[in-house]
Amino acid sequence: MHDSSDQKSYRPDTVLAHVGRHPEDNNGFVNPPVIHASTVLSPTLADMHGHTGRYNYGRSGTPTTEALEEAMTALEGAAGTKLAPSGLGAIALALQSCLSAGDHLLVTDSVYGPTRRFCETVLKRFGVETTYYDPLIGADIAALFRDNTRAVFTEAPGSLTFEMQDIPAIAEVAHARGALVLMDNTWATPLCYAALAHGVDLSIHAGTKYIVGHSDVMIGTVSANEKAWPALQAAHRDLGLHVGPDDVYLALRGLRTMGVRLRQHQENALTVATWLEARDEVSQVLYPPLESDPGHALWKRDFTGASGLMSLILKPASEAAVAAMVDGLKLFGIGASWGGFESLVIVPQDMASVRTATGWNAEGPLVRLHIGLEDTADLMADLAEGFERLTAAGA
Ligand SMILES: *Cc1c(COP(=O)(O)O)cnc(C)c1O
Repeated sequence: MHDSSDQKSYRPDTVLAHVGRHPEDNNGFVNPPVIHASTVLSPTLADMHGHTGRYNYGRSGTPTTEALEEAMTALEGAAGTKLAPSGLGAIALALQSCLSAGDHLLVTDSVYGPTRRFCETVLKRFGVETTYYDPLIGADIAALFRDNTRAVFTEAPGSLTFEMQDIPAIAEVAHARGALVLMDNTWATPLCYAALAHGVDLSIHAGTKYIVGHSDVMIGTVSANEKAWPALQAAHRDLGLHVGPDDVYLALRGLRTMGVRLRQHQENALTVATWLEARDEVSQVLYPPLESDPGHALWKRDFTGASGLMSLILKPASEAAVAAMVDGLKLFGIGASWGGFESLVIVPQDMASVRTATGWNAEGPLVRLHIGLEDTADLMADLAEGFERLTAAGA
């Protein structure tokens, strides 16, 4: 915002439209310039040695990267934000900012798969031990703490299985034990979950999803409170992370419309989820805004909205029948990622193998849907034809 002291008093949609823009610094142009840069020139050696300029090197920040950082900092109510080249890069950055050899880390069993892989490869190699916990654990997480537990990594809801977590209860325990709380807040975006206000110290987003919103850029963000900010800044500097200005610009452009897009994703998703619940082929719909969802009470207590990502559990069906259903869908693309304008579907291959602290005993196969901005009547007609193929293929 032109006067950053205003930010607290504006509501989220107003912040989205104005934050991180400084037309007065850019000849009146509405949007910030896309600055392609490595070298920053100093007028004299004394200026260079005295760091008199606002910028000193492309890697350490430009007006373009600062615009997105400023926007995310305002939206998260954070002390500061750093950018990473992908969501996974942001997760790795956040974890590396607060862990050292000999530390112990607690991670939700419902965590995004590649986060678990990072813990089991890089962190393990550098001497950090990870224990996975039941996402429904709440304050009972206290029993898993050791003297060297330095951080808890949460994700709510889980982006495949949609368990909600009692983040404030977990944060209270963690803080009493001197540990930091990290959260993968991608599903909710800063608009639907105020992570830092609920006790999270480092809030992470795969900006690739709803912030970018158009399936054309990979980027990640980490926003930190005062306590976690100095170490985040240092880790970002020392790891040499940098995001190209065109991608930063597209993320910032996506952010401007994230409020309206998300409201439509939520409306569409709730329509489709309610319809799916009533289908004979469906055993359960995993989407916290539904009253039938086991995490609904927590979602209602802590969240201010929802995105368009959900899963459904089918009645028992063969792999071939599920493939017949999914392969023939016309509007749901088969592909990883989500948060763009278009609908997507995936069917994970082996749900049980990605969990170690808790089992996975669903009645049938899990199908994850991203509900895009298409007309829901068309989406439901497409899915209805899919169910006909499923049934025709037999169990
Ligand atoms: C996609 C995703 C990520 C990783 O983001 P990338 O930009 O694909 O690296 C992290 N967390 C969640 C929950 C995601 O869905």
